Amino acid sequence: MRSLFLIPAIIAVAAASNLPETVPLPEENPRATVETDSEADKAEPAEIPAPDVRPDTPEELHATEKKVPEIPIDLPPPPANEAALTICESRLKSLGAEFERQPPIDGPAACGLSATYLLKSVAPGVSIRPETEMTCDAALATAQWVRDAVLPAARALGENIRLRGLVHASTYVCRNRNNQPEAKISEHARGAAIDVSTFEFDGHELLPVEPRAGEGSMEEAFQKAVRGSACLYFTTVLGPGSDSYHDDHIHLDLAKRSRGYRLCQ
Ligand SMILES: [Zn+2]
Repeated sequence: MRSLFLIPAIIAVAAASNLPETVPLPEENPRATVETDSEADKAEPAEIPAPDVRPDTPEELHATEKKVPEIPIDLPPPPANEAALTICESRLKSLGAEFERQPPIDGPAACGLSATYLLKSVAPGVSIRPETEMTCDAALATAQWVRDAVLPAARALGENIRLRGLVHASTYVCRNRNNQPEAKISEHARGAAIDVSTFEFDGHELLPVEPRAGEGSMEEAFQKAVRGSACLYFTTVLGPGSDSYHDDHIHLDLAKRSRGYRLCQ
């Protein structure tokens, strides 16, 4: 009789041990095991990869398992690395970007940045709106991507078509991933992310980011080209088809992962 009473208890303990949402997902669904956007995006379980799918640090893998909040209380932003910023600004200028350094953002909590940049243009004659708040590195990655990949792709759309601007949906935002208090801090909260939602042209109508797979159109080819090439400049690239949260923008960020792993879907 005693053993019969123990069975339900064992089942309950086993079930409770499975409660954390951080266990690797089944191998038959590897796409769902990779990390999502660093913003309020997919459910937290999908951010924990199976070890054979995406190498990551043990610290990252265990962070949510232990349910340790990653945002401490009211830490001031670290001091700016002025030497690195000088180099970054010089490279931005050489790309023809127009920008203004902004005052530090202080808090709340772990949010806050010692230096953000308002980009007025990412390349000569290519605006970006609305106003941005992003790190110099993120601004530089955006400008490099535009020069090397977006401008050429736009030229391929047609002889008289020229890229005139980018519209973004988000740069710096103070929040955790998924808006969950115990989740990792978002790359948007580090100022290291941008959500590109629309491309503007002279000689062509607006090209919003949207699901285009199977259209067979030049617009699909353009969107696919600029999204694919973005992985050369950013370490995270997500967009339509990655999950339901990215159907209307391309998320780009500079998340740092072990061994320089890039998550581009
Ligand atoms: Zn984003």
